[in-house]
Amino acid sequence: MASHRYARALIDLQAFRSNLALARRCAGGRAVYAVVKADAYGHGMATIAGAAEAADGFCVADLDEGLQLRALVPERPIVVLQGAHDRAGMAAAAEAALTLVLHTPEQVAGFMETRRPGATTPQPWLELDSGMHRLGLDSAALAAAKAELEAQGFSPVVMTHFACADTPEASLHQQQRAAAAALGAPSSACNSAALLASDVTGDQIVRPGIMLYGGASLAEQTPEALGLAPVMTLTSRILAVRTVPAGDSVGYGAGWVAPRESHIATVALGYGDGYPRTLPPGTPVLTAAGIAPLVGRISMDSLTIDITDLPSVALGDRVTLWGKGLPVDQLAAALGTIGYELLTRLGPRVPRVVEDPDHG
Ligand SMILES: *Cc1c(COP(=O)(O)O)cnc(C)c1O
Repeated sequence: MASHRYARALIDLQAFRSNLALARRCAGGRAVYAVVKADAYGHGMATIAGAAEAADGFCVADLDEGLQLRALVPERPIVVLQGAHDRAGMAAAAEAALTLVLHTPEQVAGFMETRRPGATTPQPWLELDSGMHRLGLDSAALAAAKAELEAQGFSPVVMTHFACADTPEASLHQQQRAAAAALGAPSSACNSAALLASDVTGDQIVRPGIMLYGGASLAEQTPEALGLAPVMTLTSRILAVRTVPAGDSVGYGAGWVAPRESHIATVALGYGDGYPRTLPPGTPVLTAAGIAPLVGRISMDSLTIDITDLPSVALGDRVTLWGKGLPVDQLAAALGTIGYELLTRLGPRVPRVVEDPDHG
């Protein structure tokens, strides 16, 4: 069904392919597993998986995501980062040839009870807690699990995850890097930030996520400076335009009072679409004539911008909320969060519209 909605998230697959190519260059000859958890960071897992021909494999957060992806990608490895929670989960993963991360002793025991090495059994991944203290086995438990799995004929991949890859000078990062380097082959440690900081240690497999979508992962460098392009551009159109006399208010709670006679445009997109209600007044919205500031409170289905100084902006015009020309990270910074959160919270009401000039 064609959408009549003004709001849409344009998904630029050429940008995605170019970001993936950059990840490949950073990875040298290592295998690149594209991280597509949380519906590919809000971009749509099916769309992104379909454009990730150059990825050697994929990572998802949980089993449901893994099973959904397996239906789309019959052959390549799919790593389930949180593993399976019980025997039914272990069995479902086996059936779909999903690679399980084992991060607790219970998961290691469950895996060894239910799996035998075989041609169709993917090797398990063992996660080392090298200092982030979120998931993973300590080094003694990891060594024991690795020995037991090897005794059963498995060749586990050892992985770890960095807490401070965006600030590589942090002492915890140095400590985790040293632990990662000592993992021994085959191993996997790097996310986007570590990959972009040329911090690839002993990895055989790297796990970039946000960089593939053109989002920021390093504190010091913008995605643009690194040669990454935003994949998602969130846009909508102007639903109404009115003149508000000086002294009148706009929106719920009469939260904004016009300091002069003002032209106010109402844009068809609100917090019900995942545009955070807490974005402050003055947040930039990009029109064809330039930046218009957000005024008044954001509603569920709409928001208002001041176009007094942009006389050419008219009813029906398309505006950009984030993406090309307006980095999502800039909005995220104003809220004290990161682009990842805004992207993954974009609501299901916003149609994802694919733009793919290379592939008709
Ligand atoms: C989400 C995730 C990644 C990808 O991280 P980015 O910062 O998006 O590159 C890699 N590894 C693990 C274990 C993750 O949870």
